[in-house]
Amino acid sequence: MPTSTILRGGHVLDLTDGTWRTADVRVDEATITAIGPGLAERDADELDVTGRYLMPGLIDGHVHVTAFSAELRDLEETAASYVTAHAARTMRAMLGRGFTSVRDMGGADHGLARAQAEGLLPGPRLFFCGHALSQTGGHGDMRLPGDDRPPAAGLGPGISTVADGVDGVRRAAREELRRGADHIKIMASGGVASPTDRIDSTQFSIAEIAAAVEEAAAANRYVGAHAYTARAINRALRAGVRSIEHGNLLDAESLTLLRTRDAFLVPTLVTYWALQREGRQHGLSATSWAKVEAVLDRGLASVRLAHEAGVRIVFGSDLLGGMHRYQNEEFRLRAQVQPLIDVIRSATTTAADLLGRSGTLGVLAPGAAADLLVLDADPLADVTVLADIGDHLRAVVQGGVVVHGALGPSPR
Ligand SMILES: [Zn+2]
Repeated sequence: MPTSTILRGGHVLDLTDGTWRTADVRVDEATITAIGPGLAERDADELDVTGRYLMPGLIDGHVHVTAFSAELRDLEETAASYVTAHAARTMRAMLGRGFTSVRDMGGADHGLARAQAEGLLPGPRLFFCGHALSQTGGHGDMRLPGDDRPPAAGLGPGISTVADGVDGVRRAAREELRRGADHIKIMASGGVASPTDRIDSTQFSIAEIAAAVEEAAAANRYVGAHAYTARAINRALRAGVRSIEHGNLLDAESLTLLRTRDAFLVPTLVTYWALQREGRQHGLSATSWAKVEAVLDRGLASVRLAHEAGVRIVFGSDLLGGMHRYQNEEFRLRAQVQPLIDVIRSATTTAADLLGRSGTLGVLAPGAAADLLVLDADPLADVTVLADIGDHLRAVVQGGVVVHGALGPSPR
């Protein structure tokens, strides 16, 4: 698009009340500068988007753009250049699914974020944490039980770094902050696919979690924690963690803590859905595969409970390797337990709140980044519009530039 453009006559989504209004949107450079009926075209080109639906670009609150394989251990033994090539392709594909910003929860670094920001590779705006912090034998320790070599040192590609003790955690957090991390990720419980830990284990001592929180806060950043069980979730929240990742096995106390501590829940249901479909062919053992269904069912129930309790919920997908293509299935899963408008808010306004970008991302308003989707059907009326977005997405505008598809009116 030219430097000043008016998108004329589209339906513009207001997420506050979940309504559409027919209006023009003026974009100057990378920013929306006016929204209203009959905007004058002073010094601006015009594009007719009559009949199209305009909504903010989507935000995915939990991704791993470098995860070219579902076997995360592979990343630690692969050249950074190869991992970057895969990440570039994954990020490009995310734009085509309507995601103009993503929050990476392990793996992406300042180099990828810089390359995206400078336009070297097309992709969503990247909010990254570098390496996730894990204790020895924790969810981010990729060594098999028979491997007695030292753990990953947090250098090069790889999702995680191993740190122990308050001083070790402090140093690891400071390293990631030094490299420009937007947030710190910690592994506060076991996981589904890690080689040696149990899903019901808690990880890191309270003092270690508090040290990560203190270091993040000192840099005006925050901590997000991978946690499944209520026990792990609740101790992380009490230690000052701001976002709970996954949270499938939360309890009533978790809901109270999430609300009273102004924290966020970032469920990632689609990753279990995809593992259920394709996990066996991606090498998941029969025992692990059997656990996936229970985790998905409990995860759905937890999203319903969190929604009813008024917890701030953010969209997340957490897909790995060849399963990235299912990113938008998360909309269909959540729509089973939440009103569609709230699912859309979780991928726009609420996600922007978590990123500390309220009012500039995830919203169509003067002063916001010109990140928007042009759809040929109403995403509030039917979940398939976002779940099967390829059938409906006419264009993606990011920072005032058309980065996918093309702009124009509906055929009459
Ligand atoms: Zn993850």
